[in-house]
Amino acid sequence: MENNCKDIAQREIDLLLENCLELLKAGDKSAISLIKKAEKLSRKLNYEKGIALSFIALARYYGSHSKYAQALDLANRGNEMAISSGDSDVQMKACYVLGYLYTNLGNLEYGLRYYLRGIELIKENKLQIDPTFLNNIGVVYYDSGQFDDALEFFQEALKVAEDTRHKIESLVLSNIADVYLIKKNTQLALEYNKRAIEVFQNNNSEGYYLGQCYSIYGLIYKELGQWEQALESFEKALAIYKESNQQYLEAEMLYNIGSLYLIQEKVEEGIDYLLRARNIASKIKTNGILKDIYMTLAETYEKKKDYKLAFNYLKSYHHLNEKIKTTELNDKLAQHMTEFKVEKAQKDAEIQRLKTEELKRKAEETTLKANALAASYEDIKIIGEIGQKITATLDIKKVLNMVYKNINKLMAADVFGICLYNNEQARIDFKILIEQGKRLPLYHIMLDNEKSYAAKCIREKKEICINDMILDNKQQLRVGATENKFKCKSIIYYPLITENKIVGAMTVQSYKSNAYSDRTIGMIKALASYIAIALNNSQKSEELKVKTNELEAISKTDVLTGIYNRRYIMSKIQEEAAAYEDVKRSFSIVIIDIDYFKSINDKYGHNCGDHILVKLSKILKANIRKQDVLSRWGGEEFLMLLPDTDEEEAVLLCERIREKIEGSNFNYDKKRIKLTVTFGVSEYNENLGVDFTINDADKALYEGKNKGRNCVVSR
Ligand code: GH3
Ligand code: MG
Ligand code: MG
Repeated sequence: MENNCKDIAQREIDLLLENCLELLKAGDKSAISLIKKAEKLSRKLNYEKGIALSFIALARYYGSHSKYAQALDLANRGNEMAISSGDSDVQMKACYVLGYLYTNLGNLEYGLRYYLRGIELIKENKLQIDPTFLNNIGVVYYDSGQFDDALEFFQEALKVAEDTRHKIESLVLSNIADVYLIKKNTQLALEYNKRAIEVFQNNNSEGYYLGQCYSIYGLIYKELGQWEQALESFEKALAIYKESNQQYLEAEMLYNIGSLYLIQEKVEEGIDYLLRARNIASKIKTNGILKDIYMTLAETYEKKKDYKLAFNYLKSYHHLNEKIKTTELNDKLAQHMTEFKVEKAQKDAEIQRLKTEELKRKAEETTLKANALAASYEDIKIIGEIGQKITATLDIKKVLNMVYKNINKLMAADVFGICLYNNEQARIDFKILIEQGKRLPLYHIMLDNEKSYAAKCIREKKEICINDMILDNKQQLRVGATENKFKCKSIIYYPLITENKIVGAMTVQSYKSNAYSDRTIGMIKALASYIAIALNNSQKSEELKVKTNELEAISKTDVLTGIYNRRYIMSKIQEEAAAYEDVKRSFSIVIIDIDYFKSINDKYGHNCGDHILVKLSKILKANIRKQDVLSRWGGEEFLMLLPDTDEEEAVLLCERIREKIEGSNFNYDKKRIKLTVTFGVSEYNENLGVDFTINDADKALYEGKNKGRNCVVSR
């Protein structure tokens, strides 16, 4: 009965999500809240497929709104869940979204990998193939200049689209025409494009597909030198794009027409179209095409001998080119960061999974061993349980406490202790020592200590069992911090060994003599292998944590000065700007540049310059608050992020630091060196954004330099 209800609920979720995907395709935002509901419901039902589909749908939504970091994260998680749910249709959908996201981010290699994996899944599982999928792969190949592969996928997409009467058919046909045009086979290009238009008219496809057909006609005719037809086709495409408000394509068409006029020496008409193209392109900031427009205008005016205008357009061209390069660089950086984050998350998840599996495997292995060892004891079940619990824990303190709590279930122990062996220092550290429920102070001993049972046990890798301390004439062998040093009469020390490595030892002691039988020793033996594994695991995990922390620190740090680097502070600034949206807490940015640093280098040498950079960063660091972030911005420039600080407060702070620096000595190699620095300050303005604020601080800095340096300037 219960199962039945669950089935029905799951089917409902599937249906809901299918509908949501359709809604998203149609650009309907209301799907988002439905998807989130579906996700919650799936979680409640523990319905992996539902969760995976929800993530994928959300990823798709974020992707289409250019929120790639979120989208990638969700898509990757969706993909993992899809894989673990074993549903190949959902996996295929995840691959599709990942392919789409990576290609949009410009990572064609990754994009292609996921797309192709998606196709593989379709073929393996005989799923229904969506021609859009094949078409998109063709587009990726096209964009990376592999036209033969592109053609192959377009052709395959065409076949499927024809069979299923899919509305993408006309787009695929014109894509094929486009490839043939590039391969200079105008005959085939014309043929396919003609078919594209026919299909379009029959199929009632999306308007802009027709625009693409006409635009390709234009290009084909241009290639053939048939200007009239080319012009007519471009004009038709233009009308379609205008009507469907595709401004980017409209600008491109205007530019195509303008260029066509120029080829025919119809200069006035050409300029007229180019200017129209420029107006739209600069309004919607599509820099790629705008750059081409500026260059063509510059060349045209030069021919007209209007050198002033030609020069102006050339200037605009160069200006834009610089800007594009910077944006591309920043985009690349952002993309790397996004991928880095996602990859790291994936790796972490993978490491966690492997660890858990390894732990499980080891626990099982040990259970087998322990079973064999202590099969005759009824307590084996408890030992097994303890073993499973402790080997699944990576926190050393938890492991020790768990062992202690459980040991009393198995045997009478007035004293219980575990010590770890540090191989490098030949030293033994007690990590837990308990007498009658009371924790005793922990201590350490050296491996060569002749008076310690723990040391002897570890040295010889062998258990020590004493049944009656008084009769047994070994009293001399006792160091340790137990309160009743000589009260214990029964003593067991057992070595903890795993992977042929001695990890430490455990001890159980009783005030009574002959407290422990062979049975107890058997149990301790079984338990000891679990404890050794658990301790070894937690040690490894600690080491891993330390290494990860070190790596993280390195990736944030500037090598010379040890303060943060540019990448790190940029992420902090972005965080601060994001927080600003919620709490409206003002913050300021300061750029600091050393005055006449080049001459210091020239006069005293580069090493001295480096020494000064280090000392200066120390002075800066010492004079800001804990929450302020200081970074080396580049060369001899520093950038500070001052949270919760408006411009006025920032200027006051900088003024104080400026005086400190002016009053400091930067002595090097017995030479007395003085220097000053200039500060540019800017408070964050929500409407203008982070880049603008940094630029603004830079401009302020340059004003300061022009004013004569050694000053603080804000804008
Ligand atoms: P201004 O007052 O206009 O800032 O003059 P300046 O000489 O400081 O300006 P400029 O930017 O022309 O010169 C910066 C110099 O900083 C150039 C380079 O020799 C030096 N520099 C940059 N990075 C380092 C570095 O890591 N170590 C050393 N020693 N010098 C550096
Ligand atoms: Mg400089
Ligand atoms: Mg300088």
